[in-house]
Amino acid sequence: MNDLLARARRAMPGGVSSPVRAFGAVRGDPPFVARGVGASIFDVDGGEYVDLLGSWGPLILGHAHPAVLEAVARAARDGLSFGATCRGEVELAEAVLARFPFAGKCRFVSTGTEAVMSAVRLARGFTQRSRIVKFEGCYHGHCDPLMVKGGSGLATFGVASSAGIPPEVVAMTEVLPLDDEAAAEELFARRGHEIALVVIEPLPANAGLLLQREKFLRTLRRLTHEHGALLLFDEVISGFRVAPGGMAQRLGIEPDLVTLGKILGGGMPVGAYLARDEIMQHVAPLGPVYQAGTLSGNPVAMAAGLATLRELDRAGSYERLEQLGAQLEATIDRALSRAGVAHALSRMGSILGVWMQQGPAPRAFHAIDQAAAERYARLHPLLLREGVWMAPSYFEVCFVSLAHSGADIERVGRALDRALEQLAVTVP
Ligand SMILES: *Cc1c(COP(=O)(O)O)cnc(C)c1O
Repeated sequence: MNDLLARARRAMPGGVSSPVRAFGAVRGDPPFVARGVGASIFDVDGGEYVDLLGSWGPLILGHAHPAVLEAVARAARDGLSFGATCRGEVELAEAVLARFPFAGKCRFVSTGTEAVMSAVRLARGFTQRSRIVKFEGCYHGHCDPLMVKGGSGLATFGVASSAGIPPEVVAMTEVLPLDDEAAAEELFARRGHEIALVVIEPLPANAGLLLQREKFLRTLRRLTHEHGALLLFDEVISGFRVAPGGMAQRLGIEPDLVTLGKILGGGMPVGAYLARDEIMQHVAPLGPVYQAGTLSGNPVAMAAGLATLRELDRAGSYERLEQLGAQLEATIDRALSRAGVAHALSRMGSILGVWMQQGPAPRAFHAIDQAAAERYARLHPLLLREGVWMAPSYFEVCFVSLAHSGADIERVGRALDRALEQLAVTVP
């Protein structure tokens, strides 16, 4: 074990600031990252990797993009934080609202977790109802009422998936399976008048990529409308990635609330929640739903987000992301086929889900073959040694960025071929 890892484990729980970084779900120890440039990251020993994780989603332009660095440096020279409104906030809020035109106002926070947590409070304050609905396999950050893993049955009562969350806190959380209109219809028939909010990742990307049928999402829109509940699209991953206006734009569905994060900060900590004026009027200081933040709307973070959105606005960005995503999909498909590994792939633009299991790509959490995670756990260190940085867990996705080249993806293909050969030797 290298010295940094030993020191990290002495000083921080598991040696990390966020649990999956500890590599508990794969074999081997986590390398320490020293720097990144474009599509590559370098560890402290000089090892180079093609990065298919992109800091878990934010880095759609790749690492250390010159325009983002320049904007951050320029903002930083004028001071790091004021606790007063700055020009960057206004500009980024306008840029966000231009991309999500059904929303009237946007409130900045510092993380995706905070955005969702605040949106839940706002929905409850607005509707004067308490019950909320989430879907199995969707992740919305670590705010207490959404830290619920339910069974896949109808409207399972919430059971917290973390210690430290009292049952009372999740008693008002219902968990439904994805991809199941009947379960949603049944819950609304029974409890519709009590439901404040339905929260979903319209492109669930936190348990692999569980592509949803448009009809399912439209059913949620209809049910929430009919019963006076709000619909929250958690677009912390999909926002700005699958289209400037996220899945809401791609599908032409108007949710009541949207949460954003990741790309919004271009690598700096920024989250946001937005809704039409009628709802946002309830947020303090306009209304009675309190929510605040010392570093919210931070000028350096706003500059990073704004520079990122401006780069994404260049002609051809989304076509290029689609093309790179398709190339990655074809490359991984070819390598897994050659190695005789049963697999399925799910993709939308620059997000790819790799399923090392039989049958079609799953659309719901219960369709994921948990045993496949073990195969991935053994493949991961081999891929790392071949110079490819993928998520240290089977239940994650791959991201490509505008910094990736066709040659980077070919390199991934060759590395995967070699890693799969070694996997076949070590595990017959
Ligand atoms: C990452 C993520 C969050 C949490 O964001 P943090 O910035 O990690 O708090 C919430 N929702 C979704 C869909 C996410 O992918």
